[in-house]
Amino acid sequence: MRVVITGAAGFIGSHLSEALLDRGASVVGIDNLLTGDLGNIAHLRDRDFQFIRHDVTTYIDVDGPVDYVLHWASPASPVDYLELPIQTMKVGALGTHKALGLAKAKKATFLVASTSEVYGDPLEHPQKESYWGNVNPVGPRGVYDEAKRFAEAMTVAYRRFHGVDTKIVRIFNTYGPRMRVNDGRAVPAFMSQALRNEDVTVFGDGTQTRSFCYVSDLVAGIIKLMEAPGVNDPVNIGNPQELTIEQIARLIIKMTGSTSKVIYKPLPVDDPKVRQPDITRARTLLGWEPKVSLEEGLGKTIEYFREKVK
Ligand code: UDP
Repeated sequence: MRVVITGAAGFIGSHLSEALLDRGASVVGIDNLLTGDLGNIAHLRDRDFQFIRHDVTTYIDVDGPVDYVLHWASPASPVDYLELPIQTMKVGALGTHKALGLAKAKKATFLVASTSEVYGDPLEHPQKESYWGNVNPVGPRGVYDEAKRFAEAMTVAYRRFHGVDTKIVRIFNTYGPRMRVNDGRAVPAFMSQALRNEDVTVFGDGTQTRSFCYVSDLVAGIIKLMEAPGVNDPVNIGNPQELTIEQIARLIIKMTGSTSKVIYKPLPVDDPKVRQPDITRARTLLGWEPKVSLEEGLGKTIEYFREKVK
C-alpha cells in the first residue's frame, strides 16, 4: 500500500504517517513547512518514507502507483488562520483540487481532513453529520470554515463526476505531542503557560465547551475510515467527552502541578459556544470509538511539553 499524505510534517499528518508506516505502508509525505516542522518527521527518515517539500496549491507530481491520497495540509489553529488567511483558503480550495487530481490520475482513494468547524457556532448539539452548520462566511474564522466546506463540496463533486472513491473525516478538537508550543490552541497554550507558571489565558468566561480527542484515537479512526469500503459520506471523529474551557484549563494547572492563575481575556469573534461530536456513525460504520482517557492523554502531552518549554 502506497500512501501520499499532504501536510505530513504537521501535528496530525506526522502521527498518521507514522501509524501507516507501522502497518507496513510506503508513505510519501508532502509539506511546504508553513506550519509543519521537519522535527515532527525526522524519526521517519530511515523508514519507507519519502519527503517532498512542496506547496500543494500547485501541481503535485508523484511518480509511481498510489493507493491513497490523504489531504491533511492546512493551518489548523485559529491563531494561524488569522495570520495566514489567504494560504488557509488556498490550501483548502486549490490544494484540495490538486490532491483530488492526483487521486484521480492514480485511481487512488481520496480522504480529506475536514473539521467540526463546518458546523460553525452550532445550533444543534451534539453535532451529527447531517447538520448543515451555522457558519459566518465573512467572520475571521470564515477563511478556514469555508475552505473546508468548499473542500468537502469539491470532494463530493470528484466522486459524482469522476467516480473517484472519496472519504471525508470531520475532525473535532484533537491534542497530543507535536502540537506547537506557540500554536495558540487551548491545550498547547494552557500547557505551556502552566509549565512556565505564567497566567493561564481563558478566553471569554470559560463556559464555552469543547470535546478533546487524543491523537492516537483520532489516527485509529482515520485508518478505519480509509479501510471501510463504501463509507463515502462524512464521518465525525472525536471524543464526545465535553468540558468547559475553564475546566480543561484548571485540570491542566492541576496536572502540571503549576502555581499559575486563570485570567480572562476577550472571547475571539465567532468562537463556537459548544462543540461535541455525535459519533454514532463512526461507532456503527467503522466500529470505532475513542479509548484514551483525558487524564492519560493529557499526561502524555504534558510530558512532551515539559521537554519543549524547558
Ligand atoms: N481558548 C482559550 N485560551 C487560549 C486559547 C483558546 O480560552 O489561550 C479557547 C478558545 O476561545 C475556544 C477554546 O479555547 O473557546 C478552544 O480553542 P482552540 O483555539 O483550541 O480551538 P477551536 O476549538 O476554537 O477551533
